[in-house]
Amino acid sequence: MTRRVLVTGGGTGIGKAIAHAFAAEGCRVTIAGRRRAPLEAAAEGLDLEIREADVADEVQVQALFDAPYDVVIANAGTGVAARIEDVELADWQRTLTVNMTGTFLTFRAALRAGMGTGGRLIAIASTASLQGGAQIPAYAASKHGVLGLVRSVAQGVAKRGITCNAICPGFVDTEMAESAITGLMARHDIPREKALKMVVGGNPMQRLIAPEEVAATAVFLASGGAASVNGHAMSVSGGEI
Ligand code: NAP
Repeated sequence: MTRRVLVTGGGTGIGKAIAHAFAAEGCRVTIAGRRRAPLEAAAEGLDLEIREADVADEVQVQALFDAPYDVVIANAGTGVAARIEDVELADWQRTLTVNMTGTFLTFRAALRAGMGTGGRLIAIASTASLQGGAQIPAYAASKHGVLGLVRSVAQGVAKRGITCNAICPGFVDTEMAESAITGLMARHDIPREKALKMVVGGNPMQRLIAPEEVAATAVFLASGGAASVNGHAMSVSGGEI
């Protein structure tokens, strides 16, 4: 039977690559996000279902689950770079709400909708789930929270033949990494080349991760062969962590 897959934040970057990878696997893929235009662009030429939804809104998330999905990927996320002294409460709360609460609402709705045996819950977490950074206190706190959620959900769903895992990418070549690069250029008054070097400096491969590499990891975690991989934080960072 054709598997149903939901990808939040599926209109851009990593989510788009994941949606395309599962579509190539023959799955029926739904992508969700707040803005319609990127969703439509991501679906162009493909048979993807588009749903507008804010993962921070309980009712809107619930509405995505009119029928159970076999694979649910909580990918929607946000982040700003600032040291703790400069983090406004509103930015702190928005980061936690989208990244952490959004993943909670998505996974809870997936299970309440009746995800069955063989079901897969996957969070796109971050290397910031495994280590902190002076410029990312809110982002790292939210992504550490995602990992705590994933590890706990994994314990609860295991008997039902469902797995719950986190993928922890290093810097991936998307809009999010781009804004980190432009942020460094502005903060340090340095050229792009130098900022890019700073960003990839922590990765032993000395390059950005491709979104398709994260997508391939998600496809593996959703496969039958990964049925016993549960509660894992899978680093996709070239050996950074
Ligand atoms: P991106 O292109 O900015 O993607 C973020 C996506 O999330 C967008 O499609 C956005 O769509 C959606 N989104 C944001 N807030 C949302 C909300 N409240 N409700 C629904 N959708 C929302 O960046 P990306 O790099 O692909 O990020 C995807 C995930 O990977 C994030 O969780 C991020 O933290 C994680 N990650 C990224 C990197 C990296 O270096 N790029 C590294 C590690 C982890 P709308 O704005 O239209 O809603």
